[in-house]
Amino acid sequence: MRAILMGPPGAGKGTQAEMLIEHFKIPHISTGDMFRAAIKERTPLGLKAKEYMDSGALVPDEVTIGIVADRLAQADCSNGFLLDGFPRTAAQADALAKILSDLNMCLDGVINIEVDDSILLERLTGRRVCKQCAATFHTVFNPPKIEGVCDKCGGELYQRSDDTLETAQNRLKVYNDQTEPLIAYYTEQGLLKRIQGEQEIGQVFRDVLDVLE
Ligand SMILES: [Zn+2]
Repeated sequence: MRAILMGPPGAGKGTQAEMLIEHFKIPHISTGDMFRAAIKERTPLGLKAKEYMDSGALVPDEVTIGIVADRLAQADCSNGFLLDGFPRTAAQADALAKILSDLNMCLDGVINIEVDDSILLERLTGRRVCKQCAATFHTVFNPPKIEGVCDKCGGELYQRSDDTLETAQNRLKVYNDQTEPLIAYYTEQGLLKRIQGEQEIGQVFRDVLDVLE
């Protein structure tokens, strides 16, 4: 099974990725994780990536594409892989097509987990943290017994600045702007598999398996 997993922040992509790699026994290839690991291990690539990140710049395509090409050529990818966080642009998608054709591989599908923005915003802005003990709650998924009050210590709950509506709206806008051309790209190639991500986790997973098998 060779697939790409896409979905906006708050869509539950991480959970589906874990379930998929377990089910198909394939490696989870997340460029974000690969960069973090390379930086931690101070590999030449990690040092190069860190230089860009420290200066606030995006890691250039050629670096990212190089890492993905090396990773996909490794033996554990011969039975399949789940790509996550790559490609992000149509240019990267073109580069991926070239890498796969060089390896005599082709993609089975591009899974796009779709969730309505209003629901994503509810999920992304629901976190509440205790001022006293730092316990976390969620207004939808894990609400405290009394609104605004910590169950554990009675402390006051607050919303962190990176969980505000404005920040969440901005994250979604950036994601949607960036992803739109990719969705068009893979739709055109007949590879895009749209999954209704508002269902419960198990049903989302069954739908993903259905479109891949
Ligand atoms: Zn507390």
